[in-house]
Amino acid sequence: MEICTVGGFQEVGKNMTAVKIKDDVFIFDAGVSIPALIDLQNDNIQVYSEKHLRRVGAIPNDSVLDKLGWRDKVRAIVIGHSHLDHVGAVPWLAHRYPRAVIIGTPFTMTLLDTILRDERKEIKNKKITVREGGSIKVRGKRRTYKIDLIHVTHSTLQCASIALHTEEGVFFYAVDFKFDDTPVLGAPPNYKKIKEIGKKGVKALIINSLYSGEEGRSLSESVARKKVKQALNPVRDRYSALFVSTFSSHIERLKSIVDFGRATNRKIIFLGRSLNKYVTTAIKVKQCPFQKQITLFKYRNQVNSFLKKAEKDRGKYLIVCTGHQAEENSILDRIVKDNTPFRFRKGDHMIFASSVIPVPQNILAREQMDHKLEKIGVKIQKDVHVSGHGCHEDIKMMMKMLKPEQIIPTHGTPAQELPAVRIAQSLGYKYGKNVHLFKDGKVLKL
Ligand SMILES: [Zn+2]
Repeated sequence: MEICTVGGFQEVGKNMTAVKIKDDVFIFDAGVSIPALIDLQNDNIQVYSEKHLRRVGAIPNDSVLDKLGWRDKVRAIVIGHSHLDHVGAVPWLAHRYPRAVIIGTPFTMTLLDTILRDERKEIKNKKITVREGGSIKVRGKRRTYKIDLIHVTHSTLQCASIALHTEEGVFFYAVDFKFDDTPVLGAPPNYKKIKEIGKKGVKALIINSLYSGEEGRSLSESVARKKVKQALNPVRDRYSALFVSTFSSHIERLKSIVDFGRATNRKIIFLGRSLNKYVTTAIKVKQCPFQKQITLFKYRNQVNSFLKKAEKDRGKYLIVCTGHQAEENSILDRIVKDNTPFRFRKGDHMIFASSVIPVPQNILAREQMDHKLEKIGVKIQKDVHVSGHGCHEDIKMMMKMLKPEQIIPTHGTPAQELPAVRIAQSLGYKYGKNVHLFKDGKVLKL
């Protein structure tokens, strides 16, 4: 078995790992780098080419697979979940692997179809949807491989850790998970299956380490649900505007916002393209319990004419919108910059059911946005949120259940990945021998 750390091993974003067993190669995730994409948008570049995306480092540098001679051997691209830093590069890279099938859960695969439609891209690869907790057989050159999609909790629907069964042992890809025993939607993680695979013998584990430096265990989404309730409880007036912004892909969080939002007796309106993208996908796979309680506006003219109404009748609505990272051209950004018919007033409410993604662009943009809102006198509530990424204890639990021979932490800068190395060391692993820190584009031969 050889493992190539294509992307996401020295930064947050553009996740991609390739694994070779004899004549067969499997790719796990193909994501974009969101900060690099935001830079493109800030430069007002709307239409991208693959070349351009490569030049600015927005997609994984998978040319390493050409250099290794692996490219023609790729049999499958398996996607763990629907976040863009895991699936967003598929439309740009899939054509390089025409014989590879693309595999994911229904929510992930439906979202991929939506992205392809929005980007006006077509890919010829065969797409295979596997239910969460299901398995699929993929044909290699001389043998067939079983791949399990194991249910884990994170911060969007139908997230999977992936086990590739080979004659040399299991390759396990655990990228983006936390162990949440009381999720708001869906089942707790499938511990039984993870332990079962651990007993079978895991050759190598790639593990999400973004918050490995945070003590304890990652908080449950049910904690965020309580925070949402507390944030919405004080809003009972009929004259101020009420806005909530959260991650568009976070269907669980959106459910809590709708559930407690109904107690405000306001009409619940969802605004913006990315909210529309994820909510419509959830509806398509029958995973949107609040479908009947909301109205969605996607296009700019619809959004603007609604905001004109909301300006006059501001106490009537709870508005869920994009822009919690103060992204250029998001609904909130446009409102704050006076580019819509709506103006915030003193006493209006703004709830951020999110945290600021810790990259300089986002931190600066949000500071500026918050400052403007505070100056007007908007009542802001921040960090009504818990993370979807595992902390110290989650990562330790995964390592203990799987007992892998080799561990490579991913999904962060070296400083963010180092605490995961320390966790492995506390379990008896030796740095450089069976736990490793790799940059992008390196190969571990086992
Ligand atoms: Zn994720």
